[in-house]
Amino acid sequence: MIVIMKPGATGKEVSHVVDLIRDYGLKDHVIEGTDRTVVACIGDKRNVDKGAIENAPMVERIVPILAPYKMASVEVKQEKSVIEIGPARFPIGGNKVGIIAGPCAVEDRDQLLRTAEKVKEAGAIAIRGGAYKPRTSPYSFQGLGEEGLKILAEAREKTGLAVVTEVIGVEQVDVVAHYADVLQIGARNMQHYPLLEAVGKTNKPVMLKRGLSAQIDEFLLAAEYIINGGNSQVILCERGIRTFERYVRNTLCISAVAELNDKTHLPVVVDPSHGTGHAHLVAAASRAAIAAGADGLLVECHLDPEHALSDGAQSITPDALSEMMVQIKKIAEAIGRDA
Ligand code: PEP
Ligand code: MN
Repeated sequence: MIVIMKPGATGKEVSHVVDLIRDYGLKDHVIEGTDRTVVACIGDKRNVDKGAIENAPMVERIVPILAPYKMASVEVKQEKSVIEIGPARFPIGGNKVGIIAGPCAVEDRDQLLRTAEKVKEAGAIAIRGGAYKPRTSPYSFQGLGEEGLKILAEAREKTGLAVVTEVIGVEQVDVVAHYADVLQIGARNMQHYPLLEAVGKTNKPVMLKRGLSAQIDEFLLAAEYIINGGNSQVILCERGIRTFERYVRNTLCISAVAELNDKTHLPVVVDPSHGTGHAHLVAAASRAAIAAGADGLLVECHLDPEHALSDGAQSITPDALSEMMVQIKKIAEAIGRDA
């Protein structure tokens, strides 16, 4: 349930409600909106005297949260959450669409630093690149580990771009959080609950990718794990789901963008690279994503896709990224946004 405070309620009045909620053994989550504060209450409400809470000073009313995910729901917060990333504090979820681009994996220092310069020139706000790679085969390139993280941090130093990189295990959360600006949780780990709880304990924004076969409610419940763990800075990433179709690697679910924007206040970005699996489809999928209301894109971009150590087939070149950015800008403007 949500306790909605009257406009103008003071911090002391909100604290009083929080104390009451805690007395009933419920967990509280205070959300300060532009004109009023609400307190989301999570837990077993059978023994709660709602009347007592409703009578507390400056409480307007109590409403139930119907969605299974609570803190991620628009029922708790109608205004879109804006999550600032990187040294420039770029606001994901604001009016401006943010493009995150870079190779699938950090392959070596020179590759990553040169790519970072190029994607910055193209207008990206963050560099992506996996230092720990969740590969389908144990014989494929697994990433450079901490050395890769250091290279990413150097790229941030040199370009001012934010760093987005994946964490694949609980044991790496601390080291990845030390170097990265955004912790990516991959599709394969969307329901790795101990990992979700572990990133929930950090203070770094988390980019949660939709699982290969996850339904929207499961996706939002995974986000709820992170928020419930204490970290409300969650960015959702639609990256396609596994279907019977073979001409694409995954079937990019554009309607999920609009549906998520209906159901949650969390920002939503789209990965057109894993979402299609083919470089020649990336620009079209990106245009569609922005038109559908995505707050940003996560794009694989490689200096030499033919020789990439992973995901070359779906990686676009920096030139293709620059070209695509021109189109993205126009589409963003057409729907009252900016890129
Ligand atoms: C990636 O972003 O390189 C990646 C492994 O993506 P996903 O988890 O969506 O497969
Ligand atoms: Mn990849």
